Amino acid sequence: MPKPPPSQGALLVRAIALGVCATDREIVSGEYGTAPPGEARLILGHESLGEIESAPSDSGFSQGDLVVGIVRRPDPVPCAACAAGEWDMCQNGRYLERGIKGLNGFGAEWFTLEPKFAIKLERALGHLGVLLEPASILAKAWEQIERIGERSHAWRPQTVLIAGAGPIGLLAAMMGTQAGLQVHVFDHHQSGAKPSLVDALGATYHHRSLAEAIRDVAPDIIIECTGVPSVIAGMLGAAAPDGIVCLTGVSGCGRMFDVDLGRFNRSLVLSNQVIFGTVNANRHHYERAAEALCRADRKLLDRLITRRVPLERWSESLEHRPDDVKVIIEFPQNS
Ligand code: BGC
Repeated sequence: MPKPPPSQGALLVRAIALGVCATDREIVSGEYGTAPPGEARLILGHESLGEIESAPSDSGFSQGDLVVGIVRRPDPVPCAACAAGEWDMCQNGRYLERGIKGLNGFGAEWFTLEPKFAIKLERALGHLGVLLEPASILAKAWEQIERIGERSHAWRPQTVLIAGAGPIGLLAAMMGTQAGLQVHVFDHHQSGAKPSLVDALGATYHHRSLAEAIRDVAPDIIIECTGVPSVIAGMLGAAAPDGIVCLTGVSGCGRMFDVDLGRFNRSLVLSNQVIFGTVNANRHHYERAAEALCRADRKLLDRLITRRVPLERWSESLEHRPDDVKVIIEFPQNS
């Protein structure tokens, strides 16, 4: 893409790397996402990392700063949540998302960014900053779990079971161990990168059966990171008494299941369980996520990036290979 024209008050950013996720694949297959009004195509990319080329003098940013762009923009009304800076909780659905909904993304050699939607990263984090956007999703999820947990003064969770050892599941696990919880991760892979990454995170890997894992762990918290309907069905109402089930995965529609709603309701009501969904993140969550990444072992974070695709072969980044965790596109740095 050509360098964007200078825009009043905006930062000009040179892309370093771009993370690719299931949302991007869904957009490419035409199942999700919208181009900016009046445009025939959408520049993809919402997991950004770049270096500032130029910044307005009063912006608080300067040339050479490492930055990540916030994905969502408040709705134009704005609703009460967006007006309060909680665009992740938008109430009217008219929010926009860079690279996803109505705004071009960060998948170009250069992009512009309004300073209030830019997050400055510690230089030491380097290319690992590309993990900030997915980490922000989990920073929000964990904060919501903490807040919901405050409904009981006595609730002291000890165990968490996470479904899915993809980037979202592993970042959830990392934050769980940082919080001092016993962390368990369920995924169907028997070998490869995922079990050893879970082990390196200080968590326990389960692959045989979800029902068995739930029985053995009796989790106070469950975090669903697959979006797979059969996995979700196994998690509904499966937390320990007073427990919380947090849904982060976006599912496809149209697969029907028989669910015993009476049993489900009974276990929720009789043991005070909460099931909730969470999406996106606001500035505060990006800041919390940046702290979590800075506290983590850099070598381990680096192992989460299992495939690096050069820009000229970008389309390979959309292939789903069995041992992929996080796949990123790397941008040339000498042009
Ligand atoms: C992104 C979120 C976004 C969500 C829904 C996810 O892949 O990480 O920022 O809100 O998709 O569009």
